Amino acid sequence: MDDTLAAGPRLNSAGLNSTWASDESVAEVASPRSLASPRSDASVDASADVLVASPRPEWQSMSVATGWPKELLQTAPVGLRNLGNTCFMNAALQALAHCPVLTAYFLQGNFVADLNAANPMGTGGELATAYAELLKDLWREDSSGALAPEKWRQIVKRVAHFPLDGSQEDAHEFLAYLLDGLHEDLNRVSRRPPYKERNAVQGVDLEARGEERVAAEAWHDHLLRNRSVLVDLFQGQLRSQLRCPKCNTVSVTFDPFVYLSLPVDKKTKTVAEALAAFCEEERLDASNQWTCPSCKKCVRAFKKIDIWKTPAILILNLKRFYFNRRGGGKVRNTVACPVQGLDLSKVVGSEQPQAAVYDLIACIDHHGSGLDEGHYTATCARGPSWLKFDDDSVHSVKSPVSADNYVWFLLRSDTPSEPSTLPQQSHLHPEAWPHLHPLGKPDWSFLRSSDLSV
Ligand SMILES: [Zn+2]
Repeated sequence: MDDTLAAGPRLNSAGLNSTWASDESVAEVASPRSLASPRSDASVDASADVLVASPRPEWQSMSVATGWPKELLQTAPVGLRNLGNTCFMNAALQALAHCPVLTAYFLQGNFVADLNAANPMGTGGELATAYAELLKDLWREDSSGALAPEKWRQIVKRVAHFPLDGSQEDAHEFLAYLLDGLHEDLNRVSRRPPYKERNAVQGVDLEARGEERVAAEAWHDHLLRNRSVLVDLFQGQLRSQLRCPKCNTVSVTFDPFVYLSLPVDKKTKTVAEALAAFCEEERLDASNQWTCPSCKKCVRAFKKIDIWKTPAILILNLKRFYFNRRGGGKVRNTVACPVQGLDLSKVVGSEQPQAAVYDLIACIDHHGSGLDEGHYTATCARGPSWLKFDDDSVHSVKSPVSADNYVWFLLRSDTPSEPSTLPQQSHLHPEAWPHLHPLGKPDWSFLRSSDLSV
């Protein structure tokens, strides 16, 4: 597979093209969604009123074991009818709908306070409001059978400009689009300060400040512009290193990520191997040379990416699709992932405030031999059982892990089930950040003098 030219369409390996993961891309690539005209506040408030008129109370019987309130687990699962090649959308929606604390945040009405109709990067709140309505229908107490998400499709077509016109699309790409749109609609930042590029740090500067502090500073700058429940739940941080082969200088940057796209080939047997391949050092090719800031030479640098901070919900996308001179294909072997207790502590590059132990909660599966054909389904944990959502039909399965797994959703074991107790990431509250002082106690004095008060 060494002649692989690309794997997965138009998305890089760490979700960094997403507007909320890389602010640079906002300026460089005008997202089609950003062209959506902002709606008036009035229309959003009206629909939000409908939703909060009967908010669900905070659930009293939250099951610690499954992260779901018992009331919800007693409801019958609802399938989504295929509206003509919309299985990619249905699968992504079902997987996301089975992320417990995010669903509770919408069903309990917490999202209304966060709606940011004035954000020009968002949809005027329409996408988030429509998603909340869809979740209400998926988790109805009197639910039965399947529903046709026609209204949802019309809204996504109108405000998010995602092609839902009968063409087969990539479920992972739709998911990235949806998470990005929800983030902008729910961004708690009312006045976004201008994007400030952070320079790579190296040499004595890096030694003096230490990596964890540089990482915390980058996180702070990210939070100045991005604060939403999606950041709280889905965003982690990556460390990217460039190393000069001539003088060994290492230059470091820290970037947020929304999901990780892991390289897989026919030899990949486990998620640990796929993560190791993701973190493997690679040499930049001759067309992609780097000017070393220390020896000033133009070099083919060594590049390495590591997971620095883990999010509460980790999304892993297996890069099964590949393209080469002979066309393309799909890696079809099973990559094993433990359903419970995936320990990432050895994979993560820095100390975490909590154990990086994850349970699988949902998968998006792709059946078939290539990206342009095939079928998507979702396999989701619902209490102790696993359910396969195949458009309008739902049935139970023994195990979610199969050769069809395309996107995994993993929940960190310390994540609260109740949305009101979820720690909000804010530039004003570094104590809630995942960053630790090298001596093990927080020391945020380096931020106090700058723009903590913004
Ligand atoms: Zn050098």
